[in-house]
Amino acid sequence: MDFKQFNLHPQIQAGVEALGYVTPTPIQLQAIPPVMDGQDVMGLAQTGTGKTAAFGLPMLHRLMQGERGRVRALIVAPTRELAEQINDALNEMGKLTRLKSVTVYGGVNINNQIKRLKEGVEIVVACPGRLLDHISQGTVDLSKVEMLVLDEADQMFDMGFLPDVKRILKVLPYVRQTLMFSATMPDDIRKLAHDILKKPVTVQVDRAAPAATVSHALYPVAQHLKTPLLFELLKHTDTESVLIFTRTKHRAKRVGEQLEKSGYKAASLQGNLSQNRRQAALDGFRDGTFQILVATDIAARGIDVSLISHVINYDIPDTPEAYTHRIGRTGRAAKTGDAFTLVANEDDLMVRAIERVLGNKIERRSVEGFDYNVPAPKKDAEFVRPPREPQRRKESPAKPSKPAAGRHAVGAGAKSAPRPASHAARRSGGR
Ligand code: AMP
Repeated sequence: MDFKQFNLHPQIQAGVEALGYVTPTPIQLQAIPPVMDGQDVMGLAQTGTGKTAAFGLPMLHRLMQGERGRVRALIVAPTRELAEQINDALNEMGKLTRLKSVTVYGGVNINNQIKRLKEGVEIVVACPGRLLDHISQGTVDLSKVEMLVLDEADQMFDMGFLPDVKRILKVLPYVRQTLMFSATMPDDIRKLAHDILKKPVTVQVDRAAPAATVSHALYPVAQHLKTPLLFELLKHTDTESVLIFTRTKHRAKRVGEQLEKSGYKAASLQGNLSQNRRQAALDGFRDGTFQILVATDIAARGIDVSLISHVINYDIPDTPEAYTHRIGRTGRAAKTGDAFTLVANEDDLMVRAIERVLGNKIERRSVEGFDYNVPAPKKDAEFVRPPREPQRRKESPAKPSKPAAGRHAVGAGAKSAPRPASHAARRSGGR
């Protein structure tokens, strides 16, 4: 099975070859033919499965025919990082096509986006809030959209973007091809799919699939000893790049700073960093300037770092689905990865729920020589109460971590869905 079977336009086939893709992934095998056929598709797949090419290749193929300089394809994504990632992937796949795309999201100057839109593009990759700004200002014309992709629909819903998405849908032509991708299928997403997809073909990749090349381990430890244990793990593990997940922004920042102080090349990525700082942290992680990235689920959503060797859950995620999302960042595309989870006593129920989803018991490990009996300091304010749920409220931007000379560290990663927040909070994430 190779990509030639899809009969993609030769310039797109050449792009696939330049990227080094040889064998289509399961979601690509299932989704490309119906999308090429013009059918609506509901894709149940998470990041890491190759879903971007599953919709991107047939999209580029379709756009090769027809008018240029008009917006003919719209991709709506929940986060800026995902929008950028999709745009980068489309640019690479379509390198030889001279099709043009633009990303549209908040937190950056709108005028550059207006300029790009005026110059004429065929593809817009947008977050909902800023796209609505353009729609209301009349700076984007979506009347010629033939193809709509809603990516990470469940995340969009969790972030409270559904009303925005519905407003966007109202300005799109009724006759169009619609594709929806979601890692999970809660009732709200099922209803949205029912409302907006016409006779959809449903394609699904096994949720446990990304885990197949990942080895999982649990490290039971008291809350107050998590940081020292993390340092021990990093010291004794041969890692390339590590994505560490914490439950709160405060923790992501603190752990990032502690690692940096100890000489690791580490940065933290939290929901409310300024766009420039987020980008600097992401770029630095991608290019190896930072070997450890500490992030909350929401901040890490959509990160695609193909070299992640380790995902470390400093805090266990809130749901089993969030666990598979997180560990989906490692062990991609025939590489193997490790997923370590630090677990405290109170995490027992969640551990069992995760094991049920994986269909396996996860190995419990302890680090030799580590003193698990150090008592908690009397005034340990942070661990008196269990950590709060992630919030998406606006806060002042945190200081970016600077690279520190020193030892290499390893990575781990994960993502989970936060609860919807206030209107103001949505705006801070979406525009
Ligand atoms: P995605 O799920 O779209 O975020 O893709 C995950 C990663 O897999 C990205 O780094 C892609 O470049 C890579 N990828 C996608 N399709 C293939 C393929 N057929 N062969 C090898 N790598 C792929």
